[in-house]
Amino acid sequence: MSRFLSSRYNDLEPYVPGEQPQDQKYIKLNTNESPFPPAPGAVRRAVEAAERLQLYSDPDCRALAEKLAERLSLDSGLNLSRDNVIITNGSDEVLNFTFMAFCSDERPAVFPDITYGFYPVFADMNGVPYREIPLDDELRIVPEDYIGAGGTLFIANPNAHTGIALSRGQIEEIVRGNPGDLVVVDEAYVDFGAESSLPLLEKYDNLLIVQTFSKSRSLAGARLGFGAASPEIIRDLNTIRNSTNPYNINSMTMAAGIGVLEDETYTRKNCEEIIVNRRYTQKRLNAMGFALTDSSANFIFMKHPQVDGGRIYEEMKARGVLIRHFTKERMAQYNRVTIGSREQMDLFLKVLGEVIEELK
Ligand code: PMP
Repeated sequence: MSRFLSSRYNDLEPYVPGEQPQDQKYIKLNTNESPFPPAPGAVRRAVEAAERLQLYSDPDCRALAEKLAERLSLDSGLNLSRDNVIITNGSDEVLNFTFMAFCSDERPAVFPDITYGFYPVFADMNGVPYREIPLDDELRIVPEDYIGAGGTLFIANPNAHTGIALSRGQIEEIVRGNPGDLVVVDEAYVDFGAESSLPLLEKYDNLLIVQTFSKSRSLAGARLGFGAASPEIIRDLNTIRNSTNPYNINSMTMAAGIGVLEDETYTRKNCEEIIVNRRYTQKRLNAMGFALTDSSANFIFMKHPQVDGGRIYEEMKARGVLIRHFTKERMAQYNRVTIGSREQMDLFLKVLGEVIEELK
């Protein structure tokens, strides 16, 4: 730490992202990326946009926001316009804006004890208190525990790390049970088999849905996410955005996003393939004795009854397979594994089989 750092950051512990090795040495199953390249039209549009990089990008993201509102309207049956969406540099950015705009001493952040690890960091970074509500013994969110929670709620659905999804009805219970507070539903993984809560926007003005182009839409490296909510909430978030970084989306990413939205068939096909590969991997892991949470995401969360989770992670890494291990108490026996292509999963299962035989 330099002697110039503001004292308000003395105790800040930054978020630690998953390893991103810059060589091709690993089968990379640690940060829930898509194994599929971006839609061909997305790449083509990004290359075209690169030729105009001497100009600033559109701070209103107009073309992309309109295209996105159209897509979300089709998916939800609602009539959403670009006033209902804010486009951000990854969904991390809209989450950060949300903590800045809607959390305070009077409205602390509230989220499960096991969930996306960036939530407590955003809270600390913005100097707002937070409260963690424990998952039950089976690592499930219990909706009743969130009724009248007394703060701005953050629910990842499916939940991060466990992959367990709540139904739209259960999310509605939480939204209805907190009429005076904002409920943020982080749907980063919703396209792999869970129900989106977008249709609830018609009935509730205390709901903000967050999604990303990083997972099902194969654009993790482009950094693109969004929030969908009432025009009033979107206006507040834009006040924060325009006070920090009005050109938050670069022109190439904006163009790539439009290309993705023009090829919904490609996205859907890829999601279906991931779901098939997840079922295949789950079956094989069950046969190997692993306990798994019931994941509706593009990853699985697994633990072995006899072999330590940290050891599995280390041995897999030594053999060129990167998975994610968390050391937080209730998760320390688990590993999170991204679902990739069938070839990747077969290799992962083969190496894992060897590791388990050795460590058992
Ligand atoms: N929410 C959840 C639950 C996540 O797991 C992630 C990925 N780390 C994000 C949000 C952020 O993703 P991105 O910024 O790439 O959109």
